[in-house]
Amino acid sequence: MNILVINAGSSSLKYQLIDMDTESVLAKGLCERIGLDGSNIEQKAAGKPPRQSCGFGGDPGKVYKKELQLLDHVDAAGAVIAALTDGEYGVLSDLSSIGAVGHRVVHGGEKFSGSVVIDDDVMQALRDNIPLAPLHNPANITGIEACRAVMPNVPMVAVFDTAFHQTMPRRAYLYAIPYEDYESLKIRRYGFHGTSHKYVSERAAKLLGKPASELKIITCHMGNGSSVTAVDCGKSVDTSMGLTPLEGVVMGTRSGDVDAAVVQMLCNAKGISADSALSILNKKSGLLGLSKGKYSDWRDVKRSAQSGEVEGVRTAEVFAYRVKKYIGAYIAAMNGVDAIVFTAGIGENDDYARQLILENLEWLGIKLDAERNKTREEAVISADDSLVKVLVVPTNEELAIARDTKALVTV
Ligand code: AMP
Repeated sequence: MNILVINAGSSSLKYQLIDMDTESVLAKGLCERIGLDGSNIEQKAAGKPPRQSCGFGGDPGKVYKKELQLLDHVDAAGAVIAALTDGEYGVLSDLSSIGAVGHRVVHGGEKFSGSVVIDDDVMQALRDNIPLAPLHNPANITGIEACRAVMPNVPMVAVFDTAFHQTMPRRAYLYAIPYEDYESLKIRRYGFHGTSHKYVSERAAKLLGKPASELKIITCHMGNGSSVTAVDCGKSVDTSMGLTPLEGVVMGTRSGDVDAAVVQMLCNAKGISADSALSILNKKSGLLGLSKGKYSDWRDVKRSAQSGEVEGVRTAEVFAYRVKKYIGAYIAAMNGVDAIVFTAGIGENDDYARQLILENLEWLGIKLDAERNKTREEAVISADDSLVKVLVVPTNEELAIARDTKALVTV
């Protein structure tokens, strides 16, 4: 069965077509500038690897690139189908070879603790959740509606970033604000990146040769957006992001945890609205803010820190310290830890970040092996005498979405 995975943003639509028999990507692509001038689609079909014996040959995969008017997401969904079935650049003969569509949805609120087959009731529930994710859920809904319009007979599944964290106990998800505000407005901690935390924790359990139900794992999804999750017996019991993805560790441009009074102070001192103050915390803070507007990309922060530049040193120090604090907190929350897993852009690729985060934790039984830590692939990177295993596990949110989709449409 082929599954189309869709991640719709307000003016973009990202997709992957996955052959679930082999779990291999047949094509991936992106529609950009939907509803704007200069809209376009780019798709790359999977190539064939070179022949093992001689090391050359193979096929790099055809790239389909077109500037075309995409007035809305329905146009974009149509363009995706046209690209996938294109006579020269496509990978499918026709639409009937798409068995199901899996949609990434940011916020499932308290209603969804797992993925669901989309019907009219689900669509209504997604609309009801818009106040919880006013930036993301409307775009996700638009993407689903567009695909339903273009592929009316193909089953569709919604996979939520928040769902994995619905197992958090009350003590972890409640804010200590008036309880009535939780009851009526559903103001609470939800957590995000759930698909990734679930995927890498399950994969880590496999690599360690133990069922997830017997392990305490801390997963560190460190990318442009970052979050840390405590996974006890396969279930999320705490996570660093909250009502929105702003809470938690230091991110590319997001502040992570701050005293809420910072918002008031910014508003009063700068004469700006709460929305503008939040925009500063979301878009001008984090690595970018700490480096005085110089670097939001970790690679630049690292280069700067390693060359001894004051902005880089300061930024790397705060970034790593915050992650370390969450790891300590989650060891306490779970009464121990068997494994710490790093994933996403920084977590998968950067030995320096991993080393900064885990240094001086030997007394907790956490000890990296410097050589093994150089990897950028799936591996155990802790020393043989480390009590806690440390792993790098590349995330694959699209495959996780496709697996959930397949499971729900083939029952
Ligand atoms: P993501 O949001 O998962 O795509 O991750 C983006 C972050 O990963 C950015 O801060 C990048 O600087 C960082 N990143 C990507 N590749 C590397 C690399 N090879 N080494 C260090 N950091 C990287």
